[in-house]
Amino acid sequence: MSKKAPYRTKQMTELLTFLKSVPGRHVTVNDISKHFAQMQISVGTTTIYRHLEKMVDEGLVAKYIIDGTSSACFVYIGDTDSTSEQTCYHCKCEKCGKVIHLQCNEVAVLQQHLAEHHNFQMNPLRTVFYGICSECRNSTN
Ligand SMILES: [Zn+2]
Ligand SMILES: [Zn+2]
Repeated sequence: MSKKAPYRTKQMTELLTFLKSVPGRHVTVNDISKHFAQMQISVGTTTIYRHLEKMVDEGLVAKYIIDGTSSACFVYIGDTDSTSEQTCYHCKCEKCGKVIHLQCNEVAVLQQHLAEHHNFQMNPLRTVFYGICSECRNSTN
């Protein structure tokens, strides 16, 4: 049992291939799990999570933390040069719990403003805006 399973490397390669195949797209552990199931590779979510955390440490993958009830988003950043990569911001609907992935320059401006004028460095990887999504707004009116 002390022997290191060679599958691990294969899983990690497969995981990286998958992440690279969807550049800029946010995926959850659930998405990855489904992908592995389609490939008929059996990997537990705990293992996927562990591999992802390792890649986050290595700077290959960025992890966006939403909150305790929504899954974290992972996105491959290994090959992309950081200047061309647009930061993604997350909005969560308080009614239906939907997470919206948003790329907005205005928010980037706000981030810069907070840093320059309020000496506060916002962390986009952990920042979530709470509110009501368009569908829920329409249905309440
Ligand atoms: Zn996301
Ligand atoms: Zn909603």
